[in-house]
Amino acid sequence: MDMSKDLTIKYIWDKTWTLVKSYVKHAEAGKPFSTLSPEELRKTLDLSLDQGNTDPKDLFRRMEKIMAASPSSLNWRFLNQLFGGLEPLGLSAEILSLFANSSLYTFKAAGAQILVEAEVLKKLTVAAGFAQGEGAFVPGGSAANLAALLLARNQHFPLARDKGMGDVVAVVYTSELSHYSIQKNAGILGLGRDRVRKIAVTRDGVMDIKVLEQTICQDRDQGYVPFFINGTAGTTVRGSFDPLDKIGKLAKKYGLWFHVDGALGASLLLAKKHRQLLSGLDLADSLAWNPHKMMGLSLQTSVILTAQKGHLARSLDETADYLFQEHGEDFNPGHRSLQCGRRNDAFRLWAVWSQLGDQGWDERLNLQMDLAQTAADLIEADPLLKLSERPVSINVCFEVIGRSSEEICEALNRSGQLKIGYGEFRGQRIIRLVCVNPALKKKDLLRILKEIKSA
Ligand SMILES: *Cc1c(COP(=O)(O)O)cnc(C)c1O
Repeated sequence: MDMSKDLTIKYIWDKTWTLVKSYVKHAEAGKPFSTLSPEELRKTLDLSLDQGNTDPKDLFRRMEKIMAASPSSLNWRFLNQLFGGLEPLGLSAEILSLFANSSLYTFKAAGAQILVEAEVLKKLTVAAGFAQGEGAFVPGGSAANLAALLLARNQHFPLARDKGMGDVVAVVYTSELSHYSIQKNAGILGLGRDRVRKIAVTRDGVMDIKVLEQTICQDRDQGYVPFFINGTAGTTVRGSFDPLDKIGKLAKKYGLWFHVDGALGASLLLAKKHRQLLSGLDLADSLAWNPHKMMGLSLQTSVILTAQKGHLARSLDETADYLFQEHGEDFNPGHRSLQCGRRNDAFRLWAVWSQLGDQGWDERLNLQMDLAQTAADLIEADPLLKLSERPVSINVCFEVIGRSSEEICEALNRSGQLKIGYGEFRGQRIIRLVCVNPALKKKDLLRILKEIKSA
């Protein structure tokens, strides 16, 4: 490459840091978002790739424009998803590990990064109550649920990994409010999306245990083979928690794998006051957990954890003598991974955890839970608004009385003011306010509600 004179590392860094600072300042001030449609936006940006350019200034100008039109989830106006806000020390570790650009399949390739990952996984498995367990970082909660379904299938049907499933009809149970990845994953694994039973929920938005047991029995009577129950800890819209203890007992009674999708809610294991929401997790075989949601780490920071050791390697190990050469399996997590080449998702979590400590997580998570209660209080006190239910965790569902939630959310997005989504609550469209960003203040909540009402 022809490195022109000023395209030095120092120039690149200084310029990058300047752009980062102005972007973050803008985001933290809660500035509105770009309102251009995809077609309009494409016209304003120079995205061409085929020219080449000797002047890096031009590239930085183009990147600045691209970033200005990229919504930041650091912005308190970004309330659309289950993540928001970033722990700065996590970013620091992230940047450092990018410069190593390690691949975490072997100790030979990644050195100390492997030990960091092992330390974090140990901490997470212990927090889950899986003292005999193990874990792996995966690219997101959907992938964690995929890994769980795979491990369960191979445990229940020992020939499946090598020979396929033959004529067996293997059945999966999950609540109708669970994440869409459960069904998607049944499709990916060839089990069939139609073999996923969406169990009805009670008024509280949790899996109805009676219906679950009836459905399992009906399936068995038909000659089908139930093998997997997913319990959700923190449903996507309502933030509700399935009764894990009851589901766990049922899973034991019928000999099924019990997975907990805690992509959203497992972080509350680190909050003393709230961890009882996950009671019954000790009966589970596996847990999906996304620290990139409630713990403010960047995307994707997700793990699959198992209560017992050995499942990961039994389902994921392959022979590759060009890759696995030294240091034994314990230090070569490629034997237990969905991926081959894999970035380090643990270092940023390690950095933030070592700074905050267990106590710091407890405080941070309590803040978010309290924020949701404050939002609910404000909504209840407002005659123009209707709270759907008291929030169970950080999701606050409500309506503007007599107005369409969908239209409000779309109008706000079109105006660039606020990104917030809608969902279903007992068959009604509601607005979902997720209090995931601990930087959100009561005054911001008031502004948000005001803007929603006047949308
Ligand atoms: C977010 C979420 C997922 C999906 O996680 P990704 O990291 O987005 O793939 C799965 N289950 C639940 C309950 C979630 O909240």
